[in-house]
This record gives sequence, C-alpha cells and structure tokens, in this order.
Amino acid sequence: MLYFDYAASTPPYPDVIRTIGEVMNRHYANASSIHGYGEDAERLLKRSREVCAKTLGVKTSEIVFTSGATESNNMAIKGTAFRYRSRGKHIVTTKTEHASVYESIRFLEQMGYDITYVPVDSEGQVKCEDVLEAVGKDTILVSLMHVNNETGAIHPIMNIGQQLKKVYPKVIFHVDGVQAFGKIKLELQQSGIDLYSLSAHKIRGPKGAGLLYVRSGLELTPLMSGGSQEGGLRAGTENVPIIAAMTKAIRLAEEQRSELCARLVPLRDRLIEEIGRHPEWELNSSSKGAPHIVHFSYPGMKAEVILHTLEQLGIIVSTQSACSSKYTEPSRVLLAMGKSEEIARSGIRISLGDTHNDEHIDQLIHALQQMKKRLVSFEGWNR
Ligand code: PMP
Repeated sequence: MLYFDYAASTPPYPDVIRTIGEVMNRHYANASSIHGYGEDAERLLKRSREVCAKTLGVKTSEIVFTSGATESNNMAIKGTAFRYRSRGKHIVTTKTEHASVYESIRFLEQMGYDITYVPVDSEGQVKCEDVLEAVGKDTILVSLMHVNNETGAIHPIMNIGQQLKKVYPKVIFHVDGVQAFGKIKLELQQSGIDLYSLSAHKIRGPKGAGLLYVRSGLELTPLMSGGSQEGGLRAGTENVPIIAAMTKAIRLAEEQRSELCARLVPLRDRLIEEIGRHPEWELNSSSKGAPHIVHFSYPGMKAEVILHTLEQLGIIVSTQSACSSKYTEPSRVLLAMGKSEEIARSGIRISLGDTHNDEHIDQLIHALQQMKKRLVSFEGWNR
C-alpha cells in the first residue's frame, strides 16, 4: 500500500516515537510538582518551549502548548472574541477555513457576533484588498488559514498581515498555519500575525499535540477553568512526553523545509500534469499552491467510490479533509470556489510527504489510470 494522505496525518519520525517512550519512562512526574522529579519534567518542558520559540522566531513566553490545532484555533478565536467584545463584535474570515475555525466562528455568530466571509477566487485564494475592505471600526479579529487543507491554495498571509496592521493596528490577526508549517516560510514577527496555530501530527509528530503562538501583550479569555498551566491560558497537567516529541518534529520540519519543497514540487507537478490529461477530471488545485496537495474531482463519480477503488489498487488518498470526510455534504471549500455541486461531491485529495519519490508517483499515476478504467467499465455495465 502507498499512503498519500499526509495532509490528514503523517507517520511519526522514529525519533518522535522513541522520545515519547523515553520521556514517559523517565519524566512521569507532574511538571507543576515542586520536588526534584517534578522539576526535571518542568526543565524538559521549558527546554521544549525554548526550542519551539527559537524555531518560530518568537519569545518563549509567547508559546502555549495545546492538544492540537483544533484547540489552538478555538482558543485563538473564542479567546479573542470573549476578551475583546467590548471593542467590537465583528470578525472577518472566509468560507474555506478548516472546520475548527469555521465552526468556532459559526458558534460566535450564533452568540450574536457579526461575521464577514470574504470571497475566495476560483483557485481558493482571498485577495488582500477584499480582506481590508471587509474590516471596519467594529472588527476585532481577522482569521485566515495560510494553506487550505483540501486544495493547497495559499492565502497571501504576509501581505494581508502587513497591510492590515498598517491600517488597523488594533485588529487581531489569527493564522491557522497547520498545512503551511514546514513547507512555506513565514516570518511571524514581520507578518503582523498575533496568533498562529500549529499541529504536530501533520509534520511527523505525535497526535494530540499542538501549539498557539500568542503575541506578547495580547490577552485571551481562557476556555478552560482549572490550574495556572500555560500562563493560565490552558489549565491541565502538561503532557510532557508528547510536547517533547512535538518539539523534535517542529525543529526537523523547519530544518528540512527547503529540501522537502525542492523534492515535492516536481512530484506534485507530475501529478498535476497527469490529471490534466483526463478531460473529464477537474483540477481543483494548481502549481501555485502548496507543494504537498493535489486535489481533483471526477464529476459523476462519488468520492468514496473513487477512494475505495484506489484503495483496492493499493493507494490511500482522501476525499475532503479528514475532519469532514464522514459528512455526505458536498465540499464547502469547493462550493466557495464557485465549483458545481457535482464537482464538490466528487473531490479526491492526494497529499504528499517526505517519504515519496518518483517511483511512488509512477505507481500512483498507474493506479489513477486503472481506477478510471474500472469505474468507466462499471458505469457502462450499470447502464
Ligand atoms: N487546521 C487545518 C488547516 C488542518 O488541516 C487541521 C487538521 N485536519 C486542523 C486545523 C486541526 O488540527 P488537529 O488535528 O491538530 O486538531
């Protein structure tokens, strides 16, 4: 079997797995305990925070460890909305955000917040001027993803952040960096970003680990009540083994970013070229997008049928994002890009990682061709 679902999750590095076991064995004490065992765990936590901060180019006090990007996004969006509601109740976002952003904002909408969904173009990108135009005197938050998890579309985050801060320095800018980190360089400090979410399992780290960068000076209302861990923002005993393992993955992802992109771009472009050879298929991503995601639709075929046919041929891909793939609804992301419902129901996402090479793409292309033959003959027989 060949696994092409890296945007959903990745195989952890052997060193990540080793670290979890070692730290669980050696540093099982509570990092908040004041005895020596606790202090050892706390030291490791401190060291992890330092490495994460250095890798992201921010201060250690600006790193909040979470259970993953779903939590980071909830913390960033609801925490901002609750803390700054006396300033205004207007939030700017798009309809193509990940469910953890989209649903957090919908929750706020039901609570009376006023939301502007900035349109995306047919490639899934927002325009900087449209974002700025949507911001008004009541706006407290702009929340955008850097790379779309379904199509790989890239928002011009640096430009948006810089322009936003020039005109509206008080508006808080949150970026979901989950699919971009380790692939696309972003200087947080120079991009006007106040809040930045990361997830470890998309970069060969463990599941259940993430972080939120919170620019110093910014206050968030904590979503959980309890202890004073993570600067009071995230009550609960820190999961030191998972945090230490995530730190390894974050450091490796950043160190290997350029090399990884140089390897993935030609593989992605070969796939894009192949999809272009099938006139009945619709390409929903482009070579201007992220290096690891290729998305296409096969109108008239159900996405699950395509997925299972490919699985029988030894290839693992996904339909929509993993968080929405059990819904039978058409993809909200594709609909927002102006695609038809038929296209939005028949989308297949292929996502690549550092373990892939040209031979794997040969096998994938062969399987795609076989899949089409099988589905066409099945359709003919069915008629
Ligand atoms: N944002 C994006 C863009 C994602 O792709 C994902 C994972 N599907 C998340 C947020 C949520 O991350 P996690 O799985 O760590 O909760």
